[in-house]
This record gives sequence, C-alpha cells and structure tokens, in this order.
Amino acid sequence: MSATSFSELGLGPELLRAVSEAGYSQPTPIQAKAIPVILEGKDVMGGAQTGTGKTAGFALPILHRLQPQANTSPSPARHPVRALILAPTRELAIQVEESVKEYGKHTGLRSTCVYGGVDIRQQLPIVRAGVEILVATPGRLLDHVEQKSVSLSQVEIFVLDEADRMLDMGFIPDIKRIMALLPATARRQNLLFSATFSNEIKKLADQLLNAPELIEVARRNTAAETVEQAVYKVPQEAKRALLTAIVTSRGLRQVLCFVRTKHGASRLARQLERDGLATAAIHGDKTQNARLDALQAFKDAKLEVLVATDVAARGLDVDDLPLVVNYELPHVPEDYIHRIGRTGRAGASGEAISFVAPEEEKYLGEIEKLMKKKIAVRTQEGFDPVAASARAATARTHERTARRDERAPRERAGARPPRPDAARSDTSRAPVGRSRREQEREEAYARNPDQPPVDRSRANASAATALTRGQTSYGLRRGKAREVPALLLKRKAPQTQDA
Ligand code: AMP
Repeated sequence: MSATSFSELGLGPELLRAVSEAGYSQPTPIQAKAIPVILEGKDVMGGAQTGTGKTAGFALPILHRLQPQANTSPSPARHPVRALILAPTRELAIQVEESVKEYGKHTGLRSTCVYGGVDIRQQLPIVRAGVEILVATPGRLLDHVEQKSVSLSQVEIFVLDEADRMLDMGFIPDIKRIMALLPATARRQNLLFSATFSNEIKKLADQLLNAPELIEVARRNTAAETVEQAVYKVPQEAKRALLTAIVTSRGLRQVLCFVRTKHGASRLARQLERDGLATAAIHGDKTQNARLDALQAFKDAKLEVLVATDVAARGLDVDDLPLVVNYELPHVPEDYIHRIGRTGRAGASGEAISFVAPEEEKYLGEIEKLMKKKIAVRTQEGFDPVAASARAATARTHERTARRDERAPRERAGARPPRPDAARSDTSRAPVGRSRREQEREEAYARNPDQPPVDRSRANASAATALTRGQTSYGLRRGKAREVPALLLKRKAPQTQDA
C-alpha cells in the first residue's frame, strides 16, 4: 500500500518542488508511512533509525502543516516557535536543521538550530528574531529558556528524535523539564522516533504521546541488509597495517573508521597520518570547531580516513560513504548496526568491514546473534598478519626507547612526576553543597562524550540573579503567568563559552 510518489502523500507544491530539487524520486518506506499520518495531525511513535530517511519523514509534513503561518513580518511575535525538534547531539541537530532548511526553502518558514559547546551569544540574535521551527539539543535549549531568548508556550508540534540515544546520554531529566514548559499534551502534536523501544522509552512515550500511531520500518537487526559485511581476523597490533593496506590498495577516500575510545581515536589518527594517509579524528574532547572542520574535510573527500568514536559519528550524514571500518568492535552489539548504517544509506549499497582480534571474538558472536547471520571472513591479498604484528612490535619498542631517552634528561633534572589525583575528572572535584541537579547534569555531560569539558564555575551571574530575584513568571501561556518549575530553578545559569 506504500505510495510510490511524493505527490500521492498530500504534500503542498512548495514541498514537492524542494523534494524534487533534492533529487528524491520516491519516498522511502518511513516517509510513505509517516507523512500522511503526521499530515492528519496524529501523534506518532516511530521505530526508525538514521539512514532510513526519517528526517524528511517528519520535516516535510511539519513544514506542510506550518506553511499557512509563514509570513514576512519583521516582528518576532509573528514568528513564535511552533515546531520544536530535540536531537541528542550537535551533529544530528545541525543535520536535521539543514534538512528542514532544504525542504522548507520555498515555504517562507524560518528555522534555526541551537546546541551546546559554542558561545550562546552567537545564537541569541537569530532565536530572538523569531523562528517557526527550532532544532535543539536539550541542555542548550534550557539555557535559552532561562535567558528568555526562547519561549516554548506556542509549540504546536514537538519531535523527540533518537529518543534511545537521549536516554543513553542521560538527557531524560532535561527532556522532562522541557516537556513541562510546552503547552498541554492534548494541545500539541507529538512525534517520538527511536531505533529501539526499551521499557524506559515506552514509559517516556506514554507520558508524551496522545493515542499515537505506531510506525515501524527496518528494524535495527535487519536495517543492515543493504550493506556488504566482512570480517578480517587480525591481531590488534597488525590492524593499523591492514587498514593502510586496504585503503591504499583500493585508492579509497572517505573511509569512516570506528574505535572505542577518544584516546584511541586521537592516537590512531596520528599514526595513520605518519603512515601517509590524510586522516582526522572526531570525538568528544575535540572543540566544536575542530569537529566541524574535520567533518567538512571528510565531506569534501579531502580525507582518506576519519577516525571516530560511536557518539561523535552519530548523525554523520555523508552520502555514498564507500567503506565503514570497525577497527575495534563495539561492546554493545546495537552500536555495530548504527556504525554500519553510515554506509548504504537510503537503500544505496555500502560496505562495512570489521577487524576482529582474538580477544574480540565474543563481541563478534553477540553481533552475529543480534543480526541472526554470520559475517563472511575475508583476507587481504599479500597481507601477512603475523609479519605485520612482528613489525609493529619492533616499531613500538623503538618508539618506547625514543620516548624514554627524551624523558630521561628532564627526570634527571628533577622534574616531579604528576600527582596521582591530577587526572581526576571535573565531576569528582565537585564542590561540597552543590545541588543534586547540578551534579546530575555534570554526570550526564561526563557520560556524553559529545559535550566538551567546560569550566562550569564561570556561571553567568546576571542570569542567575534574574532567576533568584523573584522573577518567577515564565513561559507565559494565554497571558497567565506560570511558576518556574522548581527543578528548572535549580539549574545553573547558562554558560558563555568560547567556541
Ligand atoms: P535520514 O535517515 O533522515 O538521516 O536520511 C538519510 C539520507 O537519505 C539523507 O542523506 C537524505 O538526504 C536521504 N534521503 C532522504 N529521503 C530520501 C528519498 N526519498 N530518496 C533518496 N534519498 C533520501
């Protein structure tokens, strides 16, 4: 019963034009199912992951529904936030908003994106001027609400994208705070998208959604069907040589390479550069600008390899990625599906290979169990893993000796070793007496490697004073003052950080 063309779905001519300019000839399954339901104004619980075309699946009908409200008035009051889209990471938020802009370019509706990790002041003029569609990460949205640069009292459509990731990253308390600031559930349309539906997500859906229609496509463990997968059995120390051999022998660019840790990502990128491959790394300890630069270089095919952690690569949207490499297997099998979903997007074919060291066999077993299929084992012609391991071991010994020789003069000169507590995280140095909310938030940030470490002591005193000076009317609805929700009052004042 699925529609074969966008024009059958009930979208307006401005949107059909944008879709055709984007080069889409046919709706994807999630689009065919979700667009008519969202156009009817119903709530949706969508089971779909990134790569299925879900963004257009909700963005197009939202734009259609809001189109009558488009206007050219310079007054911010004529451009209240009518659709709010929450995304777990900055990258995803940026990409969703880029899609909204692209699909909405003939509608006259305004949109913008707000996310943490950059100076909030950059975002103020745009949100204050008024936008009908706001895409945001939860923490930064609350910062804007506190600064009163954004009001959520006229939100008609609320979208929670990648709800399972939100949960993983500890954003649920922030989301509940945001939900408390929206008009009543019955007066707005709510859309929740998630790749998985744990009991916790179902509980959240119960609170958020109103008689939702359940729309499900490409379950996680079948979504990878368009991707050709292979495994290389290789000792850990020979992986780097194998990667270099594969990339150079096939003359590849835009290879996305996954590792498990931020530290491992930086180290591997450095080593691959030394091996002569144009490489960059993206992970949560990089500044926002460094990450955007790396992503841009990758999109422009200037890099041969981009090394990424799972969270940093979320939402990375580059069409036609030739190859995804699992340099290390994830310990959570679902992450494997997410990773390989970076290639073979929207029905295109793709390739994903995994380097499996003997100690990772158990993770491979779990992945195969989840996918209910075995992954073919491949070898690289002319590559001898045993010889590569031996070469790597010799190189490591040389490097260690060189480092020791470099350090020795300093240590002889009496340089003190670092204090054992020097590497403690900011969270563990939490001052006594901090509110539980602040501590929770710090912990969420610490769990979420996408949020760079920031000096949270540099609170904006004036905003804090404004909140504590009895200015408790907030989020005006139909002219009635509302109390500031108690939990929100306890939040620290917004940060102004350097980008
Ligand atoms: P998403 O799942 O929303 O992240 O979309 C994944 C990719 O599919 C994006 O690069 C979109 O530009 C692309 N896409 C979305 N809808 C279609 C369509 N109907 N036909 C072809 N490509 C699409």
